[in-house]
Amino acid sequence: MMILFCDKCREYTLKEKCPICEKKTIQNKPPKFSPEDKYGKYRRMTKNDINQEEKETKSKKSNTS
Ligand SMILES: [Zn+2]
Repeated sequence: MMILFCDKCREYTLKEKCPICEKKTIQNKPPKFSPEDKYGKYRRMTKNDINQEEKETKSKKSNTS
């Protein structure tokens, strides 16, 4: 099964033409489709990890001293 995507409506469809705007749909290839979102998500995850680590380090320091 091939999933197609209308980049105008941002709608997924199985048809070669978008049922909403009748624009030709494109093949949805996840890695090519949203690289920015993928890296943005990764960056956010990394930032959260760092923040959490920082908090843990601070609480450990205040506990020991
Ligand atoms: Zn469309």
